[in-house]
Amino acid sequence: MAPAQQNIEVCTEVMEPALELRLTSDGCKDENNVEHSKNNNTVKQNNILNEKTNNETDFDISKYEAMEFTPRIRWPDLVVQVSLHLVSIYGIFLIVTNEVKLLTTLFALATIYTSGFGITAGVHRLWSHRAYKARTPLRILLAFLFTITGQRDIYTWALDHRVHHKYSETVADPHDVRRGFWFAHVGWLVLTPHPAVEDRRVALRKCSLDLIEDPVVRIQQKIFIPLFLLLNILIPIWIPWYFWNESLVTSFVISFVLRFTTTLNIAFSVNSFAHLWGNKPYDRFIKPAENSVVSLAALGEGWHNYHHVFPWDYRTSELGRINVSTNFIDFFAKIGWAYDLKAATSSMIENRAKRSGDGTLGESEEPETNSKQHFD
Ligand SMILES: [Zn+2]
Ligand SMILES: [Zn+2]
Repeated sequence: MAPAQQNIEVCTEVMEPALELRLTSDGCKDENNVEHSKNNNTVKQNNILNEKTNNETDFDISKYEAMEFTPRIRWPDLVVQVSLHLVSIYGIFLIVTNEVKLLTTLFALATIYTSGFGITAGVHRLWSHRAYKARTPLRILLAFLFTITGQRDIYTWALDHRVHHKYSETVADPHDVRRGFWFAHVGWLVLTPHPAVEDRRVALRKCSLDLIEDPVVRIQQKIFIPLFLLLNILIPIWIPWYFWNESLVTSFVISFVLRFTTTLNIAFSVNSFAHLWGNKPYDRFIKPAENSVVSLAALGEGWHNYHHVFPWDYRTSELGRINVSTNFIDFFAKIGWAYDLKAATSSMIENRAKRSGDGTLGESEEPETNSKQHFD
């Protein structure tokens, strides 16, 4: 659980209140002005407190909030989702009726959990939030794992996630949870997006050049279709068929469709369940909540109240919470593949909880009492 401290980049107290508001005139966050202090005594000077906080953009959310909008169904996407889920139900039936080799089921489960790190530690914490830095071998590994999950290319996913955080609970949020559980879970993928979402996707593209600068992201996007076919469909079907003589149809149903659909639903759950149910120790005024069940399934991504308050923290939760993706990053930090890990100090967390939390901090799982010494 203990982070690789020599590599942690600690964000100091003063940056927190200003961080979410420091936007340039086109709505981009100016990363260069973010103040961090490294454990190893390197402190970058900050001028945040002297800086004029700029949250004025040309974008007028109230106009979009007021407009009439009726989404249309995107039939091809709807047909894909319905088909995946129907075949998955058939797959579960095959498993419970003992029609599937045990190895095939175990292989699907193992693939779900290992490829999941490509989402959590990869496209989410690394590429969307820049919560740490990763050397090329780790970036390639994460891109490989992420492609197995089949959840679009890194660039598209990360861009949408940045829009989600920046415009959370507005019409510009791609999976605005105010439109209900089903919309946030899967509806947003089968309906045409709100014009505000399209507008902000275009706007954030301009300030997401860091994504395109990464050759791993560029290459993965360029060859996404053949990579998707190979890593998400063909190889997972081939392995059970070739190595333990599973039938091709069963392998297709379990190792591709059921596995793929399960991974999708775990990721969807962060947008739906973890935006609706759970306590809010850090900010009771937002919908994202601490959801331990989602966290268990989503490799530590369900501590969502914390994550929306401190989105740049590579741990996405306090120390003491079960968070295997944090352990994954810590492991790679130990071998030097991950570095500049950003984390909030315990006093920042406590102060924020006092100011806006619902009073449940430390009620369920006590954060490590000595966590302060790691970061102060
Ligand atoms: Zn969220
Ligand atoms: Zn996030």
